[in-house]
Amino acid sequence: MNSIDILYILAHPDDESFGHAGTMLLAAGMGLTTAYVCATRGEAGEIRDVALSTKPQLAARRDLELRRAMRRAGLVDLRLLGYRDSGMDGTPENNDPRCLMQADEDEVTAHLVVAIRDMRPRVVVGFGPEGVYGHPDHIRIGKLTDRAVIEAASDADPGLGELWRVEAFYHVAAPRERLIASRNNPESPYYQAPMEVLNRLGSPAAEITHWIDTGSVAAEKFAILMEHATQISSDNPIADQNSDLHKHFMGIETVIKHDLPWESAANDPISHIRDTYPANTVGYNAL
Ligand SMILES: [Zn+2]
Repeated sequence: MNSIDILYILAHPDDESFGHAGTMLLAAGMGLTTAYVCATRGEAGEIRDVALSTKPQLAARRDLELRRAMRRAGLVDLRLLGYRDSGMDGTPENNDPRCLMQADEDEVTAHLVVAIRDMRPRVVVGFGPEGVYGHPDHIRIGKLTDRAVIEAASDADPGLGELWRVEAFYHVAAPRERLIASRNNPESPYYQAPMEVLNRLGSPAAEITHWIDTGSVAAEKFAILMEHATQISSDNPIADQNSDLHKHFMGIETVIKHDLPWESAANDPISHIRDTYPANTVGYNAL
């Protein structure tokens, strides 16, 4: 298979759309290829519209939503690892032996190494240690993606394919200041949230290395989000096209470039995407 330009490795069907659908659209418009490895099937998620699914059907329904969303985003490869969604921290689903939280770390890492060596991505994007908002699946797949990117380039895993060294590695980033500002917004999921909680969410804006202005593809990004119909309904504040929440979610996407044990490419595909700005050129005006 030809090399993929940008590979996302995340936890749930919809993690890719909320944070990255705009980047995927801009990349596709430039002839860059994107792909997604999704670790779980999202069966612990909510069902916003009971007409769409029942709990036992939710995994299959979310597979379908993800495929529809990814077709719109121009994705060229989609792989599901098929672990069970571990649910929010502290819920009984955390203890299900099939869930990602309970899975053997070496086994999950081996799946990721095989995917990286097979797809040969120039760039990988994974979750950082805070998992944006602390979901245990985000934290776990982020930690193991960090490990797999390094192991894919080493000969520690014989039998898992030819070694592959990515050009650059990024973590997902949500500007913490934006999340904190939304605690005054009655429509935000973080309305009146305690500061000790908010101070653990997202990443400080000063640490964000790349701000991608997705305003030119905002309407199509919104259409991609709405494909995840069991997770977002039209009465969600994000769906209100006149709200600040909507403008923030559709108009800007952010990532943090990380050092690798080898030299990263300066002109990797993410930094090359149209309307991408280095830190502090868009800054707080975009929060
Ligand atoms: Zn998620």
